[in-house]
Amino acid sequence: MNKPLIAANWKLNKTIQETESFIKEFLPSVKNNNEVEIVLAPPFTSLYIANLALKDSQVKLAAQNIFYEDKGAFTGEVSAPMLADVGCSYVIIGHSERRQYFNETDDIVNKKIRAARKHNLSVIFCIGESLNERQMGLTFKVVQRQLKEGLRDIELYNITIAYEPIWAIGTGKTATPEQAQEVHSFIRNWLISNFDNVGKEIRIIYGGSVTPENIKSLMNCPDVEGALVGGASLKADSFSKIVNYKF
Ligand code: PEP
Repeated sequence: MNKPLIAANWKLNKTIQETESFIKEFLPSVKNNNEVEIVLAPPFTSLYIANLALKDSQVKLAAQNIFYEDKGAFTGEVSAPMLADVGCSYVIIGHSERRQYFNETDDIVNKKIRAARKHNLSVIFCIGESLNERQMGLTFKVVQRQLKEGLRDIELYNITIAYEPIWAIGTGKTATPEQAQEVHSFIRNWLISNFDNVGKEIRIIYGGSVTPENIKSLMNCPDVEGALVGGASLKADSFSKIVNYKF
């Protein structure tokens, strides 16, 4: 098993002041946790202050999105060099909310992954099926297409795959450990058959209504190597219970 990664995706939440007070409360509770790689993804406006506040800790900083060009006439966008400059070492790419509300296609996701890698940002690459797709028996087909297109012509390093069934995101309907393991194992086999042994070293994490109550049973699955956490990452107390699931 690779070292687990647990990331907080705050989405469109938290002011600068709220970010500072979360970090102040959170850091002491994870001071001795070297078992898990911990990542926080605040909104863009909080990245600068979060980077300062995390400076003496092991907790890493992520952006929730990126644009694939480095600079130019792209109003409203933020580039990989800008994210690296503000202290990010990770970026979330391909989240289902970006695919759904901002029309991000597999091709755009692929361009974004390339841009991140060019500037040494590690990628949390999100994939997952909708409820309709699951009910139609298309889960593996969808996940395979997203992997194949998203990773097209990309060397496999500094990537974490986040399997996030859309029906489990923000709904309180977590995938059962069996459902998560089944898809994680499919992803693992796909990675190995397309990238040989390197495919074994790629972390596959789960996202979708992860809480302090269900993290242990998910982490007991052999191919679940961490979590991407939305709602339950907004309170320092609940997110620290999740990252400290071993203690
Ligand atoms: C997410 O946004 O990536 C997520 C998994 O959200 P939640 O934990 O709230 O389901």
